Amino acid sequence: MTDSFGRVHNYLRISLTERCNLRCTYCMPEAGVRCSPKSQLMQAEEIYRIAKIFVQCGVTKIRLTGGEPLVRKDFRLILERLSTLPVALTLTTNAVLADRFIDSFKACGVQAINISLDTMKPDKFRQIARRDEFEKVHRNMQSLLAHGFEVKLNIVLIKSLNDDEIIDFIQLGKTLPLAVRFIEFMPFNGNRWDLKKVVSHRAIMRVVGGYFGEREIIREADAPNDTAKSYRVAGYSGTFAVISSVTNPFCDSCNRLRITADGKIKSCLFSIVETDLLSALRSGRPIEPIIQRAVQAKRKVRSGMNALRELQSADRHHRGNRSMIQIGG
Ligand code: SAM
Ligand code: SF4
Repeated sequence: MTDSFGRVHNYLRISLTERCNLRCTYCMPEAGVRCSPKSQLMQAEEIYRIAKIFVQCGVTKIRLTGGEPLVRKDFRLILERLSTLPVALTLTTNAVLADRFIDSFKACGVQAINISLDTMKPDKFRQIARRDEFEKVHRNMQSLLAHGFEVKLNIVLIKSLNDDEIIDFIQLGKTLPLAVRFIEFMPFNGNRWDLKKVVSHRAIMRVVGGYFGEREIIREADAPNDTAKSYRVAGYSGTFAVISSVTNPFCDSCNRLRITADGKIKSCLFSIVETDLLSALRSGRPIEPIIQRAVQAKRKVRSGMNALRELQSADRHHRGNRSMIQIGG
């Protein structure tokens, strides 16, 4: 699946649900989102059939996301079916329910898990996620590490909300083999994005350099297609990284495609054009040509918003996009 800019797409993110047991302010509007009727969502077997075709087209890695993938009642079944495909299977989760699935993760060959945790302070967790689940998430993160999973911690930094915790998060890596990843806050429908709230890669590195000393910060090698720039503090077990989707997007090496829970291809997070795969599958039409057309239509940078100024002034575009909870991050 090579697009018109020569980018090979071998990484598929599948959103399993639009529902979630948290309500993170940067991810979903305060008023909530209207969830699609169940009949319009991909069923477990449809997810498998669609994923299998993507694998035949060259996908080697699948990430399950959402909404919160673990709230789906048939999560185990979906994981089991997908684990029969020749892919690296991973997931992104808020980890509230992770303890219930450790055996399934192991049985299905899941080795790496991304956890979203934006603060180490319980009261701030309640403020950001609008739910009181800090202890559970924290305990489950420790437990996944103890069970030998590779854990990455995703932190969306927002100015004056949790940017005072940059050093605390990095210090988790002193003893824990954690990959801490700071994500620049991105604009989506209803999340009150403002460039002034974004904590940029440069600002993060200023704080880090000021605290640890520039000489103590070692740049780690990037994996191919990696969206994160990784670093290690000298002597630490863990690493930290910055995902600079706003100030310095990584579109040149983008190898990702997304399918929403209602079976639409989203070739870019910022694309408001979606391609309906599920209806085609249900009506018995071949979906491979539809996938290939969606890949060919992919724009070079952030769905056409090349410069930061364009992203910043595209309020109407962002309102026309879905909320992150409905896209699948
Ligand atoms: N519920 C799961 C979780 O929170 O990990 C999976 C879905 S969540 C939408 C996937 C990722 O998107 C999370 O790491 C979350 O922090 C990130 N995310 C959500 N909204 C975002 C935004 N506006 N900007 C940057 N990242 C965002
Ligand atoms: Fe739910 Fe994840 Fe969005 Fe938070 S970031 S509301 S946990 S889907």
